[in-house]
Amino acid sequence: MKYIFGPVPSRRLGRSLGISPIPPKTCNFSCVYCQLGRTTNFTNTREMFYPPEEIVQEVKEAFKQNKEIDFITIVGDGEPTLYAGLGELIRGIKQITDIKVAVITNGALLCRNDVRNDLLKADVILPTLDAPNSQLFKIINRPRNEVVFNQIIEGMRMFREEYTNQLWLEVMIVKDKNDSPEILKQIKEIIDYIGFNKVFINVPIRPPAEDWVEIPSLERLQIAKKILEAEDISYYEEVLIENLDEKLDPEQRIIEITQRHPLRDDQVYSLFPELEKKETRKILKKMEKKGILKPVIYNKIKFWQISKK
Ligand code: SF4
Repeated sequence: MKYIFGPVPSRRLGRSLGISPIPPKTCNFSCVYCQLGRTTNFTNTREMFYPPEEIVQEVKEAFKQNKEIDFITIVGDGEPTLYAGLGELIRGIKQITDIKVAVITNGALLCRNDVRNDLLKADVILPTLDAPNSQLFKIINRPRNEVVFNQIIEGMRMFREEYTNQLWLEVMIVKDKNDSPEILKQIKEIIDYIGFNKVFINVPIRPPAEDWVEIPSLERLQIAKKILEAEDISYYEEVLIENLDEKLDPEQRIIEITQRHPLRDDQVYSLFPELEKKETRKILKKMEKKGILKPVIYNKIKFWQISKK
């Protein structure tokens, strides 16, 4: 599978079949907390990276495997609205299935008519907003120069007026950056101005792009939840990680997942219940020796991160 991964468990979306319609780390932000590392393909230009019909064909193939799927989620290893075939892709999926379609986006391009139109047919759109002003936005999300904070807010507002389905906001809380009651209250004013169906708070649980990024205290998280009237999805455990392509060998399966995000050490072992722990450890050591993976300790937890793309 070139474009599809999962289904993976998601607290918000159940069993979610992921679609990545863009090349790795293609984004108009370079968020300090990004689990994919710093953005390598830093662009704000929409492109037809792949033919939409090729992606729809892969979705069909995935259905043949009879996996239980609650949502088809267009997410990308970066920002999926940079894919110029997004509208066509959503329409194509809708023609072959009744399963709901979600799009996870940083919201930067919602100020564009074509992007808002492309998203209208989706069932749930999940944008992100981590800052209440341009200054903090630049510190946390590090956007391209042409991405303007006020235009994003107005874009979200316009989209809310046009879009009748579910709009769910995610706010990533970073210690000492946006976890103070003052900042959170300002974010809440924007949330009320736009009007979302649901608000979720999250924290950087996986190794972030920048070493200095930290998870806020539980006390701060509670305050954030209260001020933003949000649901906390921060410590959701991914117990079940599945890969539709069962033909892949263990090494390829580890690469497949770590290309999308760092993997906790214990998760790697649970990926291969048929293997003895020492065999899995041998595979990891071999991959580390070959320079494919590297171990990283973050928040006192051991992760495996891809070191070669
Ligand atoms: S977290 Fe999302 S929006 Fe931010 S840099 Fe990573 S892919 Fe882009």
